[in-house]
Amino acid sequence: MRIGAHVDQADPLAEAATRAAEAVQFFLSDPQGWKAPKPREDADRLRAAEVDIYVHAPYVINVATLNNRIRIPSRKLLLGHATAAAQLDARGLIVHGGHVNAGDDLAVGFDNWRKTFAYAADSGGFPVPVLIENTAGGDNACARRLDALARLWDALGDYEVGFCLDTCHAYAGGEELLDLVDRVKAITGRIDLVHANNSKGGFNSGQDRHDNLDGGTIDPELLVAVIRAADAPVIVETPGGATGQGADIAFLREQLGTGA
Ligand SMILES: [Zn+2]
Repeated sequence: MRIGAHVDQADPLAEAATRAAEAVQFFLSDPQGWKAPKPREDADRLRAAEVDIYVHAPYVINVATLNNRIRIPSRKLLLGHATAAAQLDARGLIVHGGHVNAGDDLAVGFDNWRKTFAYAADSGGFPVPVLIENTAGGDNACARRLDALARLWDALGDYEVGFCLDTCHAYAGGEELLDLVDRVKAITGRIDLVHANNSKGGFNSGQDRHDNLDGGTIDPELLVAVIRAADAPVIVETPGGATGQGADIAFLREQLGTGA
């Protein structure tokens, strides 16, 4: 089980070294902005690195929305990030499930996801696996609760789609962690990556506030059980920089007995 962290995009390999991380996830642009990613000067080093690379798409992306002025640029930006991620031999591009606005039909949101994959297929398909991540909040989300996730996966049935399970988002989003992996896999058939985070917010609070693994409102033993059951690469997106994340990675290795 490869274990790593979400790190600053300036020098991901240096960040990996300070955390003894076997994998890193980073943004390729401002996560709150609409700018297309620029080619990276360290692309050769990243491709050659022992460390596994994951790219997180910007938060502004929402391919599900009925708002054209968000949906259309979201599709383009997602494909642009996939292309840039492929240049780094990234293992996956993580993107949030998105949502529709209050009063809008969620069914259209799921179909907009299908259209996003159809749009990418028109230019040969996404060049890296796209991993849709479950989210913590909102009443009209495509991937907060598993009933919605099942409808999303039905809509995307024709395409190869990956899944990223965020433990904080699941718990704060109102899904019990007990047997969560089995219930997710019954829908998606796969978990490609785990975002291992404890939660500052309580169960079903809807709050996307990550905490260190042995802090927060989730019993750390339950958290470890979910991560073990998922049997997928792990990225911590926890606070405390290299010290906090390094401790979380060491904690997981000890609990999972994976050494390193
Ligand atoms: Zn996450």
